[in-house]
Amino acid sequence: MSDQRVYNFAAGPSTMPLSVLERAGAEITNYHGSGMSVMEMSHRSKVFDDIHQQAKVKLRRLMNVPEGYSVLFLQTGASGQFSMIPLNLMGENGRADYAVTGNFSEIAAKEARKYGTVQIAASSADKNHTCIPTQQELKLDPSARYFYYCANNTIFGTEWQYVPETGDVPLVCDMSSDILSRPVDVSKYGLIYAGAQKNMAPAGLTVVIIREDLAGHALPFTPLMMDYKTMIDKDSMYNTPPCWCIYMLGLMLDWVEEQGGAAGMEKLRTARSGMLYETIDQSRLFTAPALPGSRSGMNVSFRTQSEELDGKFVREAAEAGFVNLKGHRKTGGMRASVYNAMPVEGVEKLCDFIRAFDKNN
Ligand SMILES: *Cc1c(COP(=O)(O)O)cnc(C)c1O
Repeated sequence: MSDQRVYNFAAGPSTMPLSVLERAGAEITNYHGSGMSVMEMSHRSKVFDDIHQQAKVKLRRLMNVPEGYSVLFLQTGASGQFSMIPLNLMGENGRADYAVTGNFSEIAAKEARKYGTVQIAASSADKNHTCIPTQQELKLDPSARYFYYCANNTIFGTEWQYVPETGDVPLVCDMSSDILSRPVDVSKYGLIYAGAQKNMAPAGLTVVIIREDLAGHALPFTPLMMDYKTMIDKDSMYNTPPCWCIYMLGLMLDWVEEQGGAAGMEKLRTARSGMLYETIDQSRLFTAPALPGSRSGMNVSFRTQSEELDGKFVREAAEAGFVNLKGHRKTGGMRASVYNAMPVEGVEKLCDFIRAFDKNN
């Protein structure tokens, strides 16, 4: 690791592998003999088309995306999908089920209400979003056009440990904060999406994996740029796509492949989060609010009994080279975001730091 780099536990945008950054750096002024940077290329050039197609092929391979699904590279962030999903999928009956298990699913449900009838299939709001509902607790509407949930709650630090069973109702999932961190059976889903800035690429790219038969039924007033069909028909190239982010995604996917793909990522994630929860559970000072069985493998939330001590922890950690550990303003406390690119070594050292702080305070 080069001298001045820190261990960056930011929730997003977040750390990327040093080797990926170095490769982008080496190629930044002259990509593969083209005489120009990827930032400067026409998105319709042959050289960029290769970058685009390769990124798609790699993602399809790593996530084992079946035939009949399209991979789209879009903009407007993960939040853009909060509108795009109901606009495209609610259809004529206008009904959808939402599981509200944190901040982002709550916003998504609120946004969807503009376009139709949202049934709250489950909510953890009364438990301060410290847990994930069980399958038995889900109240399912068989006439819903889709069932929406957020796989990993970035702010509250909880994560679904199972895939909901919804019969014929297509599953729609926000995987922004845990995509590619474990193998996923894409065929169980109607639509998967993720803002890239946590696990995959710089901010500005949203990856959507959609079962093709779900597109083409957008509400009549759907903005042109928000119609999945437009983007499927034009292979994400209706207008200028986020070229640089797509290129960076390609580099990141090479790196994921080198680590053993989604299964390799899952080993790393288990190592990272397991170590952190064990250290927190064995400490005197720290507790993790997320309930066992719902704990996130990506965003580890923890706190002491005192805000003052939390502040001291965050300050001293930053001085020691562990940055961005302050929790979200909605939760307080601390949060270590340990996404795909966080080296296990960084977590080992953070655990040493937590143990030393626990002893000295
Ligand atoms: C970060 C995040 C979002 C919002 O992403 P933007 O790209 O900023 O819109 C949505 N959902 C989840 C799960 C997130 O972690």
